[in-house]
Amino acid sequence: MPGKQSDEEQVEAGAAENLAEEDLGGLTAEELRQGQEAALELEDTMALSAQTLVRAEVEELYQQVRPLGQGRFGRVLLVTHRQKGTTLALKELPKASTSLRGFLYEFCVGLSLGAHPAIVTAYGIGIESATSYSFLTEPVLCGDLIAFIQPKVGLPQPAAQRCAAQLAAALEHIHSRGLVYRDIKPENVLVCDPACQRVKLTDFGHTRPRGTLLRLTGPPIPYTAPELCCPPPLPEGLPIQPALDAWALGVLLFCLLTGYFPWDQPLAEADPFYDDFLVWQATGQPQDRPQPWFGLTPVADSLLWGLLDPHPRKRSPVGSVRDFLGRPWRQREGEAEGVAEGAGQ
Ligand code: ADP
Repeated sequence: MPGKQSDEEQVEAGAAENLAEEDLGGLTAEELRQGQEAALELEDTMALSAQTLVRAEVEELYQQVRPLGQGRFGRVLLVTHRQKGTTLALKELPKASTSLRGFLYEFCVGLSLGAHPAIVTAYGIGIESATSYSFLTEPVLCGDLIAFIQPKVGLPQPAAQRCAAQLAAALEHIHSRGLVYRDIKPENVLVCDPACQRVKLTDFGHTRPRGTLLRLTGPPIPYTAPELCCPPPLPEGLPIQPALDAWALGVLLFCLLTGYFPWDQPLAEADPFYDDFLVWQATGQPQDRPQPWFGLTPVADSLLWGLLDPHPRKRSPVGSVRDFLGRPWRQREGEAEGVAEGAGQ
């Protein structure tokens, strides 16, 4: 279920640092300042970390226990420290496909986020071997969320609400640091226990300071916010905002509640499911409810309409999830047609 590669679809076109105040591409001066501060802090951490990289072959220091996962950019291994016996997750990025700067970025974003219950804790150990860069984090041993989402069903409602609350908290934390996560998808949500009570966000390879200029280079995926699909407000791209994460969180929550995507691409006149959604948002009429949305309650409608507002400035922040917890998001079996009210009513 919902597994779509978002990597490589966006290209970093530059930083908003050089923008004149009158030309902020939709950012307020305060938002721009937050992003610039985050960028400066990251550069400092990266410079320090580059100096303290341990130069060694991984096997000299750590014993491999088993693979934990394979991403597009690197593999993640469960390892134990040869002397202390501590069990850790080691993410290894081959030098052939990862620059030192790219490695330091991901490593240092993880470090800069500090301790948060819904974010995988990064340890301040970076290793450079002859062929790879690696860093260590806490291991999370029940796999990623994709394995828990039943196709065409999703997650049990209590688990979906717990995930929603924890991911919203994790993203709020990231946003409070002046950063935008940019890679919400089930593969990046690690599950701590078989009942899916606790989850943690991982993989900060795409995280960037607010205001970084990005443009879309490949086709959009369901998680891509519509503002990234439009011609950018500045020639270099769109200054990124936390609203990008709110959109992606809305799509992920929809997947958790239904077991499928609401649309393939948020492109008007190109994706009929997205078109139907826009019509329903405009009319708010029960008869306009798109088929993929059957089975959700008005409470879920309101939550998702907020997170999936096509206008980034009107979109609800990720923290809005908290206002909708503890009430039903999914209708019980057989009630799907009975409660087909528009969320805006
Ligand atoms: P990439 O950036 O290359 O996509 P990820 O960081 O997303 O790589 O990791 C790939 C996979 O490895 C994840 O989907 C997950 O299954 C597993 N993984 C990553 N970090 C951990 C961890 N700390 N504990 C357990 N498994 C992990």
